[in-house]
Amino acid sequence: MTLRVTLEYHHKETRKSLLSRLAMANSYRSLEAFLSLNGTSALPFERGEPQAIKRLSEWSGVPAEQLSCYNIKSSGVGSHWSLGPALMSRDMRVGPYHRYCPKCVAADLQHGRGREQTRPYVRAAWMTRAVEACVEHGCVIVEAAADKKAQGDFARYVADNLERLREEAVTVPSAASVEVARYVENRIHGKSSNDFLDQFEAYVAIDLCRNIGHFAIQHGLVESAAAPGGELSLVDYGFEIACHGPERIEAMIAEVIARERPFAIEMQGFFGKLRRWLLRNEDKDEFAGVIELFQGIAERNLPIGSDETFVLPTRQRHLHSVRSASIEYRMFEDRVYQLAIDAGLTEPTDLSSGRIYLDAQRTHDILSVALATVTTPEIASELGIHIERVRQMLDANLLPRVEAAQDGTRIYSRVRRSDFDAFKKRLNAPMATPTRAQAQAYKALADQKRRESQQGPGGLGTGIRG
Ligand SMILES: [Zn+2]
Repeated sequence: MTLRVTLEYHHKETRKSLLSRLAMANSYRSLEAFLSLNGTSALPFERGEPQAIKRLSEWSGVPAEQLSCYNIKSSGVGSHWSLGPALMSRDMRVGPYHRYCPKCVAADLQHGRGREQTRPYVRAAWMTRAVEACVEHGCVIVEAAADKKAQGDFARYVADNLERLREEAVTVPSAASVEVARYVENRIHGKSSNDFLDQFEAYVAIDLCRNIGHFAIQHGLVESAAAPGGELSLVDYGFEIACHGPERIEAMIAEVIARERPFAIEMQGFFGKLRRWLLRNEDKDEFAGVIELFQGIAERNLPIGSDETFVLPTRQRHLHSVRSASIEYRMFEDRVYQLAIDAGLTEPTDLSSGRIYLDAQRTHDILSVALATVTTPEIASELGIHIERVRQMLDANLLPRVEAAQDGTRIYSRVRRSDFDAFKKRLNAPMATPTRAQAQAYKALADQKRRESQQGPGGLGTGIRG
């Protein structure tokens, strides 16, 4: 049965708001009194149960299909809930508060129809703390504690607080930004507005922005977390970056990495809250997309390999550090560094070995070749002769060089291991009386073979400088 007094319904209005206003307009003591007289509670109306929508349609005279939006439901798993099509997290629940824009309320009071107290209505977007600003008025959303029995009875709250509400409409602070609020509203209304963020559940998209904001503050890209609005400014700042898509996020992180050059083992501290957030949610399906995003960014921009786990184990090494290459190729760090400089993989630098990054593929190419060569001091040691003699041999082309001398101070003459072995064979050709040098060379060769059989083919580890 339609109630005696009916009201204008607004398309952004929640069902509970309409109920509250109807109860007030029809002179019931409160929303709770009206509902209990009708043997029901607010819950089925909030959830959008078909029977409740039908009843509200009958009471209000508003067609049921117009009342079918903004269902508020628990999502079943964990503490998540949904507001219309937008999935929200626990910290976005409104709790025992009225939330509203005082300027919207003042405008409703002034321009609405019917009795004054019944005019202001609750916008669906106010029903989540993810919305912290009024897009229309550019001010912050205000929260006022509600009696346990009067939760959601907004018309009653308006009737009891007319003066306060009019005052608040004048004094309410401006919001730093309304972009996040605009974005979340679109999600609540089922509108797509950002291809990148829209691929995530609403609360994941918002948390993504918040954690990017944390990262930006942690690394000094924004001034301070103590800006007015606190957490809000984190989300706002992160949104400014994230709304431009994954390339912009990676560019920001790559810029900080280029400046700070963290060790692979510093990854945890470097990513801070952002990485902890991902690890905490690793097993949730709705996080697969963001985990993939940051896993890729970490692999492409940090010298991490199969020993390091960002969130997932590293799938492909894109970068080495001088240190990690030294360990992987079992070469002295000095030698890796010099080879990298010679090949133009890095500029000369005072950074420590773990902070000098090298392209992994090119490092592999260069170090593989180097591993198949021996240096002047190595030859001298194996043959048991003085290094000067080796240089004379090389100058006489008895052994072909593969890497030319660089300058007067640092000479890295290298000879292919195979060329050297063939040379030794010739040296060891049967003779009536071996010379002392030949005997030593033979012994050195035998020692070398023994070492290799103990260490495997990569086990040279002898980057002694010539
Ligand atoms: Zn407003």
